[in-house]
Amino acid sequence: MNEYDSELVRSLLKREGFVFTEDRERADVILMNTCAIRENAHNKVYSHLADLKAIKKQRPLVVGVLGCMAQNLKEELTEHQPLVDVLAGPDAYRQLPMLLTSAIQSQEQGLDRKGLAVDLSEYETYDDVVPERNDGVNAWVAVMRGCDNFCSFCVVPYTRGRERSRDPDGIIREAQQIAAQGFKQVTLLGQNVNSYRHGSWDFARLLTAVADVSGIERVRFTSPHPKDFPTALLEAVAGHPHVCKHIHLPMQSGSDRILGLMNRSYTNREYRALVNRIRSLRSDIVLTTDIISGFCSETDAEFAETYRLTEEIRFHNAFIFKYSERKHTIAARKFPDDIAEPVKAERVTKLVDLQRRISHEHNRSYIGTTVAVLVEGSSKRSDSQSTGKTDGNITVVWDNSLIQSQPGDFVPVPILDASASTLFAHRRPQGQEILF
Ligand code: SF4
Repeated sequence: MNEYDSELVRSLLKREGFVFTEDRERADVILMNTCAIRENAHNKVYSHLADLKAIKKQRPLVVGVLGCMAQNLKEELTEHQPLVDVLAGPDAYRQLPMLLTSAIQSQEQGLDRKGLAVDLSEYETYDDVVPERNDGVNAWVAVMRGCDNFCSFCVVPYTRGRERSRDPDGIIREAQQIAAQGFKQVTLLGQNVNSYRHGSWDFARLLTAVADVSGIERVRFTSPHPKDFPTALLEAVAGHPHVCKHIHLPMQSGSDRILGLMNRSYTNREYRALVNRIRSLRSDIVLTTDIISGFCSETDAEFAETYRLTEEIRFHNAFIFKYSERKHTIAARKFPDDIAEPVKAERVTKLVDLQRRISHEHNRSYIGTTVAVLVEGSSKRSDSQSTGKTDGNITVVWDNSLIQSQPGDFVPVPILDASASTLFAHRRPQGQEILF
C-alpha cells in the first residue's frame, strides 16, 4: 500500500510542477513514506533522518515524513525531530504541494515553519488520481482504504482511518488503462481488501470484473481477512483463469484465547475449516500467511497450538514476526507486553525453522515440472539470470543462456532445483541454499 501511495504522491506533485530526481544530492525536497506496522520500519526512518542531518547542515533542504508514522507519531516527530519540516498522513496527500511550497518559502525567508496535515478522512479514496507507476509488470490498484477491524495489535485503523471503498466504475476504467499501458498483472489493494463493498458490488464481483478486463493476464489481491471469504469469492479464485491461485490468509495465532485477545473474530477451528474449504475447491491454491509470535501473555502451550496449526496446514510460505507493541493500539493500552525478548525470539526461530522445512518440501515438489512464469527482470544476484513469479506467487530464477525473455513475457520454465524460497531452472552447486 505504501508503494502505491508513493505513486499517488508522485502523481499529485508532478501535476503541480514538481520534478523528480534519483540523485539525493540534487534534491530540494526529500520525502519518506513510512510504515508504522513494525518496529523495524520505525528504526529505518530514524536512521535515514540521521543521514539527512549532514546534508541539511550544508544547504537548504525540505524533509517530509509521509504515511502511517507521520500520522501515529506526529507529536514525537514535530517535537523531537527539528529536521522534519513537513508531516502528512495517508489521507492528506492532496495538501502536500501546498505544504512543500510553503516549507520552501519559509526556508528562503530564514523561518522554521512546520507544515502538518494529519487529519483522517471518511471519504478520501484518491479516486481521481492516476498513480505515477514505475514498475512495468505489476500495477497496484487500491480498491479500498482504511480498516474497521481494530485487531488489538494493529495501528492501521488509527493511521488510515475507517473503511471506504472506491467506485467500481473508476477501478475498472483504471484496469483498462493499465492494460492499455502494457501491464500484465494487477494487484488489488486494501487493508482489508475482501471487505470491499460499494452499493451492490462486493469483492468477488469486483475481482471478477477486473480479471475480465482484456489484456490483464493476472489479478492478485492483498491483504484479505479470513472473516470475509464468501463462497462466491472462493469460486472466483478457484475458477477464473486470470485470478491467481494464491491466497494470503493471515492466521496470526493458533490459540483461541490469543485470537480473542487479538480481536481477530475467528477461532482456530473456523480458520482450519476455511483452509479446508479452499483446498476442497482447488487443491493447488497456494496458501501463505502471517503469524505473530509472543503476543501479550502467550503461554508455551498456546505457542504450541500455533506451531501445531502451522505444521498441520502446511502453508507455502509465512511471514513470522515477534510481537512488537505499537503506540495507541488496543493491546498497548490494555495488555502488558510481558513475553521476554529471548522467549519471543526462541518461538519465532522455532516457527521459522518449521516453515522453512515445509516451504522447501513444497518447492521440491515442483522439480521435474514446468511452470508458467511472468518475467519481472534481472535477478537480484546476477544480471546473467532472470526472475519472475508463478501464478501461485513463487519466485523462479533461470539463466538467460537457457531462456531468453523480457519483463512482461510469460515463459514456461522447467524446474530442476528448489530452495525454501525459490525454484530454479538450473542445478545449484551442492550446499548452496537461499533462504527467506
Ligand atoms: S484487519 Fe489488518 S489492517 Fe485491519 S486492524 Fe486487523 S491487522 Fe490491522
